[in-house]
Amino acid sequence: METKKLIVITGASSGFGLEMAKTFSKDGYPLLLLARRVEKMEALNLPNALCRKLDVTNKSDFEKVIAEAEAIYGETDLLVNNAGVMLLGDIATQDPSEWKTMLDVNILGVMNGMAAVMQKMKARKSGTIINIASTAGLQPFANHAAYSASKFGVRGLTQTGRLELSPYNVRVIAIEPGAVKTELLDHTTDKSIIDGYNEWKENAGAVNITAADVATTVKFAYQLPQAVLLREIIITDTMQD
Ligand code: NDP
Repeated sequence: METKKLIVITGASSGFGLEMAKTFSKDGYPLLLLARRVEKMEALNLPNALCRKLDVTNKSDFEKVIAEAEAIYGETDLLVNNAGVMLLGDIATQDPSEWKTMLDVNILGVMNGMAAVMQKMKARKSGTIINIASTAGLQPFANHAAYSASKFGVRGLTQTGRLELSPYNVRVIAIEPGAVKTELLDHTTDKSIIDGYNEWKENAGAVNITAADVATTVKFAYQLPQAVLLREIIITDTMQD
């Protein structure tokens, strides 16, 4: 039987990342789970799972935790750059520190992850990087300016990464989920925007899809043969407008 290779998942302490951790663990993969709330990942109690506290904006810490996991489980075969923040707000009035947080985590965090694994994947001529973007990286939504900019950015850097890595048989994939209930919305500070978003979701019918459905999609894209690249996947609730 083929030995399962190391999978690294950022933002594994809640939402999509946590569901990915459970899904891949069921299939027997060794895991490196990364987020700031390490206790949430440890509470999953998954076998062969190294849980490490990481702020993805810290490039050298990112490299250190990957090296630590690779010393135990061997080289990373899949990195899922999933960690992200959404702080909705009106451009004219939003605190610019919130824009910066989104650009730092959602764009630079993804680039830090890519940089941490790319060289070895290139040398090995195998591996997969999956970046979680968003439908907000495909179309505009009110109050999403910096978030949307960050997710259009994730698509752009995914496409550039693909150009750099596809000659080496390494896959780089962007997945663009629509609205799914997780902790993502909870960090927005303006309550009226949260209420408006929830109302939109109800009206748009985007309430039945789950984080587990996104995890299944990530697994599907990864488990296709290395020669098969799903460059971008849009996954939404069937009833989302
Ligand atoms: P959650 O808020 O539930 O999860 C976000 C995860 O990111 C948490 O595990 C959080 O962990 C982690 N995270 C945030 N900041 C950092 C940081 N600086 N360093 C390390 N980890 C960090 O949201 P989702 O599961 O919904 O979001 C996952 C991804 O999916 C995000 O990129 C999001 O933008 C994207 N997405 C979500 C959609 C949705 O509707 N839910 C739709 C489209 C895209 P901790 O706080 O412990 O560090």
